[in-house]
Amino acid sequence: MIKFLDLQKINLQYQQEIEKKLLEVYRSGWYLLGSEVKNFEKNLAGYIGSPHTIGVANGLDALRLIFKACLELGQLKVGDEVIVPANTYIASVLAITDNRLKPVFAEPQIENYNIDISKIEALITPKTKAIMVVHLYGRVCWSQELEDLAKVYGLKIIEDNAQAIGAEWKGKKTGNLGDAAGFSFYPGKNLGALGDGGAVTCKDDLLAKTIRILANYGSEEKYANKYQGLNSRLDEIQAAILDVKLKYIDADNDKRRNIAEKYIAEIKNPQIILPELSTDPKENVWHLFVIRTAKREKLREYMEKNEIQTLIHYPVPPHKQRAYRYFNQLTFPVTEKIHQEVLSLPISPVMEDSEVKKVIEILNSYS
Ligand SMILES: *Cc1c(COP(=O)(O)O)cnc(C)c1O
Repeated sequence: MIKFLDLQKINLQYQQEIEKKLLEVYRSGWYLLGSEVKNFEKNLAGYIGSPHTIGVANGLDALRLIFKACLELGQLKVGDEVIVPANTYIASVLAITDNRLKPVFAEPQIENYNIDISKIEALITPKTKAIMVVHLYGRVCWSQELEDLAKVYGLKIIEDNAQAIGAEWKGKKTGNLGDAAGFSFYPGKNLGALGDGGAVTCKDDLLAKTIRILANYGSEEKYANKYQGLNSRLDEIQAAILDVKLKYIDADNDKRRNIAEKYIAEIKNPQIILPELSTDPKENVWHLFVIRTAKREKLREYMEKNEIQTLIHYPVPPHKQRAYRYFNQLTFPVTEKIHQEVLSLPISPVMEDSEVKKVIEILNSYS
């Protein structure tokens, strides 16, 4: 069986280094808000190029905290509108609604699955205060037009960078393009912890400070609570593991790129629509390799029969979920088409050449 993602194999690559750190933290007796988190924050900030990095409990909290801090600072108020792609993982939208802000969904471009920047301006109202871009499947969603638009209308740009750590746009890393960004270190992400983890990067000093306070019960000083905060901290153990793995993220992302390029060059089947290569390979870290096909279930079963595991990211868009039943009447044809047709192929830094070859051969003989 070719697994969709072999997490055991991924983490065994760095077994000695990780086990050494685990033991160190275990023996240190210090498990939260300590030197491991500080060190990882510093290294991640250096890697991304961002002035501030705050470790938090997970990717959803990273995004929630950004909006929450903007509300506390009076930069946003309840009911303000945030433009967000209609095709994203639900966490992007939850971060908005959890803060009693209003998501305004924008259609993606079918060619690259990212928000169609040319459709944003028409959605802007006097209540629009921010745009959340999602670098979906690891591909950068950014352009000069987007920056200009945000400037003209005075909008903040928040990046959901859960899937794209290491991607670059014109020499600048995602997570350092907008005002603030949320990262996820969920085990299956390109930089994965052995459990939950997340981080916020941002440019503004006061925003960073507020997020740090909010993530620790709204408290800067023990037992003095400035805000109604959350408990959202990155564990020392997870930070130590992430710090080991951060050193290898570029090499890991390059391995993903090689596989993606091979798939794109060698999968030749009219039933399969391949993802687009970006002109600059650095604009994609291939968190997922997502194809489209009209008869998805048929292809999925065929792959399963040939011992290749595939997944669907994602089968139902946020606006069609029961959780958002008050949005269920909305229709986004491009988004809905994507959700009906997408299928994710195995891709990871530990995939063998022979496995990549087999995926290609099996797909090429599908009819
Ligand atoms: C994984 C993910 C998140 C949430 O991250 P968690 O760490 O699971 O909370 C947010 N947005 C996107 C696009 C994701 O893929």
